[in-house]
Amino acid sequence: MGASACARCQGKAVYTRRYSGESLCASCFKDSIVEKTKRTISKYDMLNYGQRVGVAVSGGKDSLSLLQVLHGINRDKRFTLVALTVDEGVEGYREEAVDHAANLVRKLGVEHILVSYKQLYGFTLDEALDWKDERDMSSCSICGVFRRRAIDEAAVRAGVDVIATAHNLDDYAQTFLMNLLHGDADRLAWLDPTILDDDFPLRRVKPFMEIYEEEIALYAYFSAIPFQSVSCPYMHEGLRSEVRDFLNEMEAKHAGMKNVLLRSSLLVASKLSSLEKGFGSIPCSICGKPSSKGTCNVCTMKKLVAEHSKSVLSPSRV
Ligand SMILES: [Zn+2]
Ligand SMILES: [Zn+2]
Repeated sequence: MGASACARCQGKAVYTRRYSGESLCASCFKDSIVEKTKRTISKYDMLNYGQRVGVAVSGGKDSLSLLQVLHGINRDKRFTLVALTVDEGVEGYREEAVDHAANLVRKLGVEHILVSYKQLYGFTLDEALDWKDERDMSSCSICGVFRRRAIDEAAVRAGVDVIATAHNLDDYAQTFLMNLLHGDADRLAWLDPTILDDDFPLRRVKPFMEIYEEEIALYAYFSAIPFQSVSCPYMHEGLRSEVRDFLNEMEAKHAGMKNVLLRSSLLVASKLSSLEKGFGSIPCSICGKPSSKGTCNVCTMKKLVAEHSKSVLSPSRV
């Protein structure tokens, strides 16, 4: 930060992109984020005319920025935005974020669908995680299974055609490395932004996948979007935060390295996804949703939670 003149308008630059050397003023920087997002959307043909677009809005900086950017590029009402919010139920943490989501949604005049773990599964995330000492699974991997299904449920209720999530370049690069480190190489194909899941009719798109997390935070800051700055109390467990630190360290030493990793992961994903021959899924014997082994991840996890958590008395039915 802190540079001379904006490369575009000669105004006072407030940010310099280390990977390109470009210095920009706040206004030109925000424009550049909108332009980058538009380029990603058209490159992968993410959104189309007349679609109802569900935007997963958690209330963090990335998702609020995504809603704002998509709203901004939709002045001609090419598509209809619907905000989808999941309240996982983390006491003293999620309430504030849900409020930030509701406030921006109201300000932009966007439809809002809110679902909660409690409503969908019968327990909050706090209750579901109440068996920390006995498990080797991270809180994030448990929560992730439930959140994905909750977003899908919200999307179905909202009747949307596509789900946009605010995953950024850092998330993408982290997921790529984590799949390798976990031995989940077969999941790399899923990182192909053009892949479609036959079992789930809604396409998932990530319009921020080519933008650094740091730049999205800066976009939120320059746009004066109020967001929750405290991170989830459960996030510092598990491999992801180590991978995040590692990538930040590499980027600091070698500017642009995250971008290189993104390009490598896209190349690998596209090669692998072209080899995918359907996912051979079978309906879950409990809930009927697609699964690979006859019981889906959500039902498997709900059973584990019901068996172990002190706060969850009996399995509920979803
Ligand atoms: Zn400028
Ligand atoms: Zn199931």
